[in-house]
Amino acid sequence: MRAMILKQIDRLDRNKTPLILDDIPEPLPREDEVLVKVSACGVCHTDLDEIEGRTPPSKFPMILGHQVVGRVEKRGRAVSRLKVGDRVGIAWIHSACGRCKFCRSGNENLCEKFEATGRDAPGGYAQYTTVSEGFAYPIPEIFSDLQAAPLLCAGAVGYRSLRLTGIENGRNMGLVGFGASAHLVIQMVRHEYPDSRVFVFVRTREEREFAKKLGAFWAGGVEDDPPEKLNYAIDTTPVWGPIVEVLKNLDRGGRLVINAIRKEGGDQEALLKLDYSRDLWMEREIKSVANVTRRDVAEFLQVAAEIPIQPEIQEFSLEEANQALVEIKERKIRGAKVLRVD
Ligand SMILES: [Zn+2]
Ligand SMILES: [Zn+2]
Repeated sequence: MRAMILKQIDRLDRNKTPLILDDIPEPLPREDEVLVKVSACGVCHTDLDEIEGRTPPSKFPMILGHQVVGRVEKRGRAVSRLKVGDRVGIAWIHSACGRCKFCRSGNENLCEKFEATGRDAPGGYAQYTTVSEGFAYPIPEIFSDLQAAPLLCAGAVGYRSLRLTGIENGRNMGLVGFGASAHLVIQMVRHEYPDSRVFVFVRTREEREFAKKLGAFWAGGVEDDPPEKLNYAIDTTPVWGPIVEVLKNLDRGGRLVINAIRKEGGDQEALLKLDYSRDLWMEREIKSVANVTRRDVAEFLQVAAEIPIQPEIQEFSLEEANQALVEIKERKIRGAKVLRVD
């Protein structure tokens, strides 16, 4: 099968083609697994974190890609629920131990044995991949394969971030950065919390117009002051500066959720500008969001179909994976980038 393979840690500013096209044998499903013929795979900022070593693959070579849509082609002997031909999605959570205190309390995203698709197990930048049937999700009919792909990470992690803010209808939400995840989160907020105003902080005029088109009450830069204080904020940027800026606009008792698996190191000194009395005092909170649970993914797919969420897609071929990654690195982002695999 054709696959885009990562052989070693690399830097995208020096090497614009870190993934190499290879022809390798199809994987064989284990007893509890299905073999999935991949038709679409989303490209995520986390793929850059893997390539550049901030959250490196646990082995090499590795096939990246953790927003996978395809059809079941073969089943292991112990597979009972899924049938050949079923359309399924695979998300960032590839497996968890199922026995530890985190797994037993519904927090399998925190499991110490958590394995990620496309980092600890081969992902979807290939014609075929395998997954345990318990970690594959039916895709609502309303979505095409390409549309469904970004729902599996950008959408599901966005859903988890939104839950972690503890949002109540009528209270103000800030979105810092407006890429694949935030453009789905705003659609959820508009639908589920119709009286809440959404304030979007982004760099370009084009992105601000896009945010307004999707229902933002206000859109400006991170250094701008919005007309109202924020009760919650979700940060999806890969850097530190915007966090410090947005905290200035967080109301007393407000909560900032950071939706980023790793921050890039470049502007860490921005944190020295944090002012305890202005930015943290009065019970302001900062919380990270780690991975996703199966519940997040399954619930979000349902919510997404009910709304229905409309993902904005930019399509690439499997062989163009490097180009999509470079564009994310250069922050040429509008909506979600998805590889079409055939
Ligand atoms: Zn992702
Ligand atoms: Zn566990």
